[in-house]
Formats: sequence, C-alpha cells, structure tokens
Amino acid sequence: MALSGIQIYKLLPQTNCKECGFPTCLAFAMKLAAKQVELAACPYVSEEAKSKLSAAARPPVRPLSIRANGNEVKAGNETVLFRHEKKFVSKPGLFLRVYAAESPDAIKAKVQAADAYQVEYVGMDLSLDGFAVQADGGDFAAAVAAVREVSHKPIILMGEANDIRAGLAQLNEGEVPLLVAARADNWEEMAALAKEANAPLAVEAGNIDDMVALTQKLEKAGLKDLVLAPAQRTLHGTLIANTISRRMALKKNFRPLGYPILNTPGDWDDEGMEVIAAGQAIAKYGGFVVIDHFRPETAYALLVLRENIYTDPQKPIQVTPGLYEINNPSPEDPLLVTTNFSITYFSVANEVEGAGKPAWMLVTDAEGMSVLTAWAAGKFDAERIAKDVKRFNVADKVKSKRLVLPGHVAVLSGELEEELPGWQIMVGPREAVDLPSYMKQVLNLN
Ligand code: SF4
Repeated sequence: MALSGIQIYKLLPQTNCKECGFPTCLAFAMKLAAKQVELAACPYVSEEAKSKLSAAARPPVRPLSIRANGNEVKAGNETVLFRHEKKFVSKPGLFLRVYAAESPDAIKAKVQAADAYQVEYVGMDLSLDGFAVQADGGDFAAAVAAVREVSHKPIILMGEANDIRAGLAQLNEGEVPLLVAARADNWEEMAALAKEANAPLAVEAGNIDDMVALTQKLEKAGLKDLVLAPAQRTLHGTLIANTISRRMALKKNFRPLGYPILNTPGDWDDEGMEVIAAGQAIAKYGGFVVIDHFRPETAYALLVLRENIYTDPQKPIQVTPGLYEINNPSPEDPLLVTTNFSITYFSVANEVEGAGKPAWMLVTDAEGMSVLTAWAAGKFDAERIAKDVKRFNVADKVKSKRLVLPGHVAVLSGELEEELPGWQIMVGPREAVDLPSYMKQVLNLN
C-alpha cells in the first residue's frame, strides 16, 4: 500500500538541508507521496529507508502480460476495489479454450471462427484476446500447433509440465504464454519450467491458505510473475476467492495475494452458467477469463460488459464533436443535432443509417453527456448548438437549413431560432428509435 507523506517523512533524514530542491524534508515527502519526484533526489536516504520506500512503491497487484506476435494481454496493476473510486486498469483477457483431445481440424475450425470475430461497439472494435489449450490426454503439441496455425493471439497452456513443455516448443520466438498451473503436488517442476520459459505461472489452490502457502514457496524459488487460479468452481466460491485475494492485496498490502487472477468459467458444463460465471469474473477481479464456448451473441455481451466496467466512470465515452455524414447526404437533406456522448451518437446514427435515410449530423461538444443530462447541466443549449453550427461551417454544406432538435430539448427551439436566423428549427422524436418514421412522415424522406 502506498505510504502517506507523513509516513515517508519519518523515513527521511529530517535535516531540511534543501539539497533535493525542496525547503524541507516534509515538502519533499509530500511530493514523493504524490509520485511527483524521485527518491534519488535526496542523497542522504539510508539503505533501510530506501528498501522500505521501494517496497511500498511496488504496485499492490503485480502487473504482468502475456504476448504473441505483437498482441499483448496485460493484467494486474489495479489499485482500487471499486470502479467508482478510480478507473480499473487492465481489462480482463477473454480466452477461448480448446482441448488437446480434439482433432487439429476441429481445433482450427473453432479457433478460426473466434479469431475472426470482431464487433464494433460505440466506435470501438471488440474481439477475443487469445486462446487456451487444455491437456486432456490428446496430443498437446499438435493442439498448440493447430492454434498457432490459425491465430497469432496470446496463448494459455494448461496441463502438466510435460504437456506444457511440448506446447512451448510449438510457439514462436519471443512469445510469452501463461502456464497453468502450479499446485501443491507439482509446484517445483512447474516453477522450474516457468523460469526456463521466462513466462508467468498460474497457481492453483482450493482455499486462500493453500494459495498463500504456494505463492510464498514460488516467490522464495525466485518467481515473480504469478497468477492466482482459485480452484473453487461455484459462483459463490469463485466470488469469495477473487474478492478476498483482491481485498487482501489492496487493503492490507498482502503481497502473497497481490497477483492477477485467472478464472475458468469454461469448467461449467452448462453453457448458460458459463456465461454467467464469465460475467462475474469480468465484474469481480478476473484478469484472465477462460471460456469453452464461442458464440457471437454471448461473446458480444461479455465484451460489452467488460468495456462498461473498465471505462473511467468519471469520463464518459465520447465521440469527437463535428459534422458527420450519414448515408451520403445531399445539401438538401436535414441536419440532426445531438451530443457527443458515444451511446447517444451511435443510437441516433445507427437508427438513421439502418433506415437508409440520408442526413447530416451535428455532434456538439457536451462534455460527453447524454442529451437530457447535458441540457440539465447547461452543456447543451441554444447558444452552444449555434456556436457549433458556425464552428463546423455547417451552413456551407447543409443548404436545406432544416435543423432537427432531439425531442427531449424541444424547449430550446425558440431560443435557437433567434440564435440561427434563416434556419427552420424542428423538433424531432424523443427516442432515436422513432427517427426513421419521423424522417419519413415529417421530413418526407423516403
Ligand atoms: S535532500 Fe533529503 S535530507 Fe535534504 S531536505 Fe531533501 S529530503 Fe531532506
């Protein structure tokens, strides 16, 4: 856990010699606590204080990543338990698992479909992050080779040391996979393999005490990049294991649990439960989430859930303000006005685009708020809209001079007529879903 300015001050020489550039040791300590200066600026810090300070500066959840062919999945480095406190940092990687007992062709077909899956959500391209190969009696090396033949995404190798060693041989130079898992009965062998491969190692245990005992042994053996893989498989058990681990790491600075977490919802036989467990893992501290079934509809739900949890709640997802074209509008087509909150923009744009109606769309700078919120906050008013009409030279392109306000802010129409003389100010529907019929019936766009 980070030290406060006063705690740091107690570790400094307290001579106020000013050599660090600050008038007092306390002033320097405050800057250090705010991470605005380096400890090295004070030449008189004792070795003991240095080691205490550098230990305190370590992130409470160790950051690590797995990589392949320019793709990287990062995990760890979180500092808060709840997203309203501060933004979560590392989006959980979503991995699809294949089994070594499956035929290489079946594996390739499964991986190819998932690898190609990409979907756009409010301007972002979402896709799965990688694949996991599970040893289950088949040819593990052939399974890994099959995955590599059709995907360049990062990989998780799950099995005993012999399987994983065979799988590692199939990977490309420079790849960093995640190895799963060290347990009480094989940790020494797995530790040696992880060191040899220079790869993160997952640690599997059925309860917190056993997990702590194992990570401590592995740390003593010199391993740094560990991942906690709770063996609990019920929703309740996984939730408890993930939460206790993360809480101990963040609130108690308990290093043996200060690692990213791997969950395997794919272990559920029931596909519906798999999706629920994956959603729980995404919401509650999973860093690597392994599923067994790929379906576009459930993958989409999980990826969107992840985006919503890992965005900064204090910074709404925004689109750039400006004049947008939908379906190649002509100068005679109308101008729709909305705010730059991404979900608002895409709701409007998708409805109009889907209906095949041409229109201009003025996205005003409302600091990323939706229409009603922005209006209530004074960020979406007649003056701002008129200002953006001029700023983006809208009149040069929209000769019809028909401007459609969102129905929720009909109250702005009179004021906007005064701000934009020569424009016909119209009031559109309240909901984006009603835009196509409004455009057909009121604007006569067929
Ligand atoms: S250089 Fe070190 S001892 Fe001197 S004022 Fe700065 S913190 Fe204090």
